[in-house]
Amino acid sequence: MMRRWLAPFVLFVFSSTAWAWSDHASLLWPLVRTQPALLEPSLKVESLETFVRDEAPGLAVLLAGHEAMARERFPYYAARPDALAFKASAENPRDAFLRAIRVNPTLSYALYRQTTVEDPAIAPGLVKSFEDLSFLAGGVSHDSIVYVALTPGQLVAPAHVLASGSDEPDFGLDIGLFEDNNTEFAADYGFGTQPFGNPNLDYSSQAPFHMGFYHLDWVTRKAQPDLLRTYPEWRVSLYRALSRFAFETGHAYWGWRFAGWGLHYIGDLTQPYHAQPLPGVNTVEALWAVARGKTGEAIQLVSNRHGVLESYQYQRVQQSLDQKNWSSTILAAVASADDVPAFDESTVREVLSKESVAAGRELDAVLERNMPPRYVSDPEFEWTGSGEEAAIVVTVASDRGEQAITTLDSIVAKQMLRFSRFAQAWINDARAVWSTQAAAGEATP
Ligand SMILES: [Zn+2]
Repeated sequence: MMRRWLAPFVLFVFSSTAWAWSDHASLLWPLVRTQPALLEPSLKVESLETFVRDEAPGLAVLLAGHEAMARERFPYYAARPDALAFKASAENPRDAFLRAIRVNPTLSYALYRQTTVEDPAIAPGLVKSFEDLSFLAGGVSHDSIVYVALTPGQLVAPAHVLASGSDEPDFGLDIGLFEDNNTEFAADYGFGTQPFGNPNLDYSSQAPFHMGFYHLDWVTRKAQPDLLRTYPEWRVSLYRALSRFAFETGHAYWGWRFAGWGLHYIGDLTQPYHAQPLPGVNTVEALWAVARGKTGEAIQLVSNRHGVLESYQYQRVQQSLDQKNWSSTILAAVASADDVPAFDESTVREVLSKESVAAGRELDAVLERNMPPRYVSDPEFEWTGSGEEAAIVVTVASDRGEQAITTLDSIVAKQMLRFSRFAQAWINDARAVWSTQAAAGEATP
């Protein structure tokens, strides 16, 4: 009965929004720019092909071990079909590797980094466009980013590789992986049909990888078991294993790039709308909405608040970055790294996403009280594609006053404090392996 009542939920929720924080690389910059060890250009750039070819036998062992662990450890994990297991003897090791880790194999995985507001001007011949890196049409955020090409052997700083890598999963790595997404490779990947969202929309198909619903209440678990099929925790674990392996085998560039990939999902999960389907709506309210036939309205409101939050956050971060205003409320929160936990395999589920879930209700309430009512309280309105994204800060100021800006900045800063703590935890974890390796390397004649 419950299943039938809530059926529209699966189809419509998240059909349009699945980006979370836009431009993860710029968001990370205020945190890493003050860490000198990460700013030294000490990493030798190498192609994915070289890394995979050089380390193929070890990678085969590592990935087999990780798969066995994943099947045991993650309750709703979709096992990787055995036929995709990486073999050192593969004819095309790079392609076999990409399919073994089940990312979209059609991307270029090119050598590049994203520039920051602190970079000097880049020679035009070195600029790479978003189209060189992704098959997606650039969103509002990607169009304004300058990427620069890197060449094998060149030296680059860990901060740049990590920050750039942390935006890369939004280039399409997780797009088209479900069997109903109509891609050449998805039928082999074993993820089954897309658990929620619209399988015909690009961004929608990455949502189950960038949202993690690890703390659903019993009603939702019973009524919507498909919401349990989310994978960011597995992605983080896999990229952590690859990052460590790359450091340990002397490929520090890939160590930091894989660390960047993992950091993306950590960043996404700091966003409360990515850690639970309906923040601000408790079980009783959800059932009441169902009973009144108002489920669609509740979902539309949450979807709008999700989008409005991300647009506002993006615009405020971008304004402060453009002004290099590192002490603005939001950038200072990103850089604070207070009370940093130790990172281990249980952190994503047991600590990070629990904290994000706990933050959802307050965040949702603050948005409801301080954003223009049309954006957050009108179920007839659709935020995505409204054309109002770029002017959101001006509109909030004129409709709700400067006090609303102050209040919204501080609730966004609260989310950024969480981002900062868990991002720094992740960085510390990667640095520990990296520096052990560097020290061992120096000791060897
Ligand atoms: Zn994402």
